Amino acid sequence: MRWEVVQRTAASGRVDYHRPVSIRRILVTGGAGFLGSHLCERLVRAGEDVICLDNFFTSQKSNVAHLLSEPNFELIRHDITHPIFLEVDEIYNLACPAAPGHYQYNPIKTMKTSVLGAINVLGLAKRCGAKVLQASTSEVYGDPDQHPQRETYWGHVNPIGPRACYDEGKRAAETLFFDYRRMNRVRTKVVRIFNTYGPRMHPFDGRVVSNFIRQALRGEDITLFGDGEQTRSFCYVDDLIDGLMRMMAAPDEEAGPINLGNPDEFTIRRLAELCIERTGSKAGIVHRPMPEDDPRQRQPDITLARDRLGWAPTVGLEAGLDRTIAWFRSIRLEDYRAPTPNY
Ligand code: NAD
Ligand code: UDP
Repeated sequence: MRWEVVQRTAASGRVDYHRPVSIRRILVTGGAGFLGSHLCERLVRAGEDVICLDNFFTSQKSNVAHLLSEPNFELIRHDITHPIFLEVDEIYNLACPAAPGHYQYNPIKTMKTSVLGAINVLGLAKRCGAKVLQASTSEVYGDPDQHPQRETYWGHVNPIGPRACYDEGKRAAETLFFDYRRMNRVRTKVVRIFNTYGPRMHPFDGRVVSNFIRQALRGEDITLFGDGEQTRSFCYVDDLIDGLMRMMAAPDEEAGPINLGNPDEFTIRRLAELCIERTGSKAGIVHRPMPEDDPRQRQPDITLARDRLGWAPTVGLEAGLDRTIAWFRSIRLEDYRAPTPNY
């Protein structure tokens, strides 16, 4: 709930009293996950009424345990492939496994989560007149042959490869968002998120940052896939959450798609070296085969986000890695269940 301070003059002098100005009920699907838990935390702190929905496939309650005692936070165990009836004003649709080892574990379920999940949140938004934001991905560009990637680029996606369940699921979700907007006037928003990292990444999600930090801290060899010359652009989680909230707050005409990511591009080899340096590890580097359809390069063009949302990342890779490493040092790996054998 939001409160405003109203000043009144009374016999005793000027007094302040607080009155509620609005209650915004915000649903975050996938709210217990890496990005979702940070988003819930920011929304709860801002005084919003937050409903976190999750089936805990790739997350655990500990990510939001610190919010459970807050009166403006509620946690629901639910699978978004099934409809849900709630009264809400805004929806952030984040429910979907995001790490390759997670989304490839049960590719049919991944596709259902993207497509049926989108239909269910769009139906909910339509019934409630709510705004709804889709967490889309740079994967809609596939293995891009345009660089950096702008929102006007239609992508280069293999529709039948091992990454297709995720890439094509997210592309279909974008289609649904724009069709519900055109046909049913639903207030939709689509952001395309590029590789984001930070505290609360699942330590066994198999993503590059979590793998490298976990391996470096344990003194295990860093597993570099291929020659390590493929590139990614890494965005720190706080910056990304700021972008999501700015997009939601933007006028309804701002439907996107809008890229959110850090344009600083690094080779994966450089990331491995940085993880070794910043952890002070003696870990070596071993080469593993390049996974099928692994994109060679990825860098967001964020001109639209800068112009329309006044957004740009503020945290550089070294500072972000230091914060992430500190978090990895603070957790006990035994407290985490690997969601799939793929890490
Ligand atoms: P994550 O795996 O930590 O979070 C996803 C959450 O969704 C988890 O809590 C999981 O349990 C939940 N979930 C999965 N299937 C569900 C279902 N059927 N019903 C209900 N909940 C379900 O991943 P993340 O990195 O936090 O990603 C969040 C969203 O952002 C995803 O939609 C992802 O595609 C998107 N995204 C993330 C990145 C990134 O780099 N982190 C990049 C691009 C897009
Ligand atoms: N990668 C790697 N070693 C690992 C995990 C990933 O070299 O242990 C590489 C992977 O091949 C890819 C990049 O790091 O080129 C990013 O992989 P991630 O799974 O984090 O995300 P995505 O490929 O979806 O961008």
